[in-house]
Amino acid sequence: MFSTPFLDIAPLTGADGCVRLPGSKSISNRVLLLAGLSAGTTTLHDLLDSDDTQVMLDALRALGCTIEREGERVRVTGLAGRLAVRHARLFLGNAGTAMRPLTAALALLTAAQGGDFELAGVERMHERPIGDLVDALRAFGCQIDELGAAGYPPLRVHGGTLDLSRPIRVRGDVSSQFLTALLLALPLVTTDRAVSVEVEGELISRPYVEITIRLLARFGVTIQHEAWQRFTIPPRSAAGAFRSPGDVHVEGDASSASYFIALGAIAASDGKRIRIEGVGSDSIQGDIAFTDAAEAMGADITRGANWLEVRRGRWPLRAIRLDCNHMPDAAMTLAAMALYADGTTRLDNIASWRVKETDRIAAMATELRKLGATVVEGADVIEVAPPAQWRAAAVHTYDDHRMAMCLSLAALNPLAGADPGVPVRILDPRCVGKTFPDYFETLFGVVQAEPAAIPVITVDGPSASGKGTLAAALATALGFHYLDSGALYRATALAALQAGIADDDRVALARLGANLDLRFAAGATLLEGVDVTDALRREEVGAMASRISAGPELRDALRALQLSFRRLPGLVADGRDMGSVIFPDAQLKVFLTASAEERAARRHKQLISKGFSANIEGLLADLQARDARDRNRAVSPLAPATDALLLDNSGLTIEASVAQVLAWWQERSPFR
Ligand code: C5P
Repeated sequence: MFSTPFLDIAPLTGADGCVRLPGSKSISNRVLLLAGLSAGTTTLHDLLDSDDTQVMLDALRALGCTIEREGERVRVTGLAGRLAVRHARLFLGNAGTAMRPLTAALALLTAAQGGDFELAGVERMHERPIGDLVDALRAFGCQIDELGAAGYPPLRVHGGTLDLSRPIRVRGDVSSQFLTALLLALPLVTTDRAVSVEVEGELISRPYVEITIRLLARFGVTIQHEAWQRFTIPPRSAAGAFRSPGDVHVEGDASSASYFIALGAIAASDGKRIRIEGVGSDSIQGDIAFTDAAEAMGADITRGANWLEVRRGRWPLRAIRLDCNHMPDAAMTLAAMALYADGTTRLDNIASWRVKETDRIAAMATELRKLGATVVEGADVIEVAPPAQWRAAAVHTYDDHRMAMCLSLAALNPLAGADPGVPVRILDPRCVGKTFPDYFETLFGVVQAEPAAIPVITVDGPSASGKGTLAAALATALGFHYLDSGALYRATALAALQAGIADDDRVALARLGANLDLRFAAGATLLEGVDVTDALRREEVGAMASRISAGPELRDALRALQLSFRRLPGLVADGRDMGSVIFPDAQLKVFLTASAEERAARRHKQLISKGFSANIEGLLADLQARDARDRNRAVSPLAPATDALLLDNSGLTIEASVAQVLAWWQERSPFR
């Protein structure tokens, strides 16, 4: 997951490949709650691992459920409908799928069994209405206090006297989650009589209620409904409310699929295709209807039971007008697809966007306009016409995962004729953690960009100048890949020492370099699968690297490997010739300077702190000899590229050096 303050996406020119979707958020949190309340143990397969499921898991644990993880499986042993804990304060983040049903379940259970619970979330959760659900629960006799503003969380639920004899009415036109919450919770407290819930107003997002009913059936409760307006919860059976079905497989998230369906429709042309595994024609999620909308805009889609394949069909996409009431979440992706359409796309009946993670109509309008689109916003409608002139924009994501994922699709602008293509800066990319923590990694795995458009920062300088530390810190700050080119020369030296190849056998050394099986994984360097992180730092290895790196054959042999590190979203490369030879078109080149005395003193301190004995004069002489070899060799001598910025870090802390380079990077970025 990218936890950087922003993530820059270079202009993208195509897409091809296969993605596996994370589990559905709606299904995951419903089955977690059902498993937590039912009798017996339920094993959940492919459960979504995200912020929203984490808060549900934490809440269930706080309520006394036993939760065990076994690889990708999660085993939940439920409460069999009996409150095991009578007092708790639950923190539910910004997860509507946890707040609404837990409010209903705990309000009804404390009314029946006694207890006192507080349910709170982040600030935005406290701005998302819940009053209609609270009213319905009060009508059943539950005691609920609003601890902040009336009609909003945080809430306290604490007992009451249940009266289930009269049908209760709940509004269906604000959020279908109110009805879902009641349907999930009422079976816990029904007795020998059926209970009815009537929907007031039009029921929005009906497919989500269908998911609820299907999952309840898997846990042994059959809900009847009359035209989606009146729902009947059956009398309680002797076996209790919910019975665990044993195993539950969670299907991939259909809303998450929408970004890759859109990607295929926009960017998979000329024999390319995006294959999506985890959802297909068998899906029980309403957002699978997004495939129809995408087809209406021009996508070419092939469906399997649990997979989809998407190609570009019509191009440019066709502008459409669509009532999106039945798939509010995936409809946001249509607003992003509208950037690539042949006219104005209009999405109707989307008032619920305004009470989601953020006011999504306002947020979408603001951010799409930054890209150059023409947007008209209404109370429950949005109209989007593509940019005449694309602009590089730093887009806000409003702590809303879907804003981040939708807006990432704007990076495909070269396909809409933006020339040159413009990058897109996604602010606070970690918000995708709500439903799709690896979204950007997954995206970068299937998209293409012109190599020259992929940003590179080079950090060159002499031995012990601190370039490795600086470059690695820059890569972390920007979410970029990191290339320690010295490690390639060192690895060749190590392999040569092991194979008994001499310093001057330049052909054999080049062959070794060209076939280097080197991998960088989680802070370790693996040579032919063996961890050589420490071995590469050995003095004799460094000395041999310094000697053999003067050979032009080896330098050539390592070139392709170094270039292959230029991958999305970007690269920070350190070495001697990164800016001058390997990446001459790098967007920013830094050349570190520090006096040999200063560098020798630093290395001395470093060695002493690690418990090695060291002699400062010896270190200085060695550094000067290496500097001389690097500077005086015939090929790629150590020298700043003509367009490099010099950074003398003799008196700077590492933080100050990083801040300086990031400031240079910011100055060169097109984002204002
Ligand atoms: O940077 P480091 O000390 O790990 O590099 C090991 C050796 O590889 C250096 O002594 C230098 O001579 C050589 N090297 C190089 N070109 C690079 C990186 C390192 O010649 N881009």
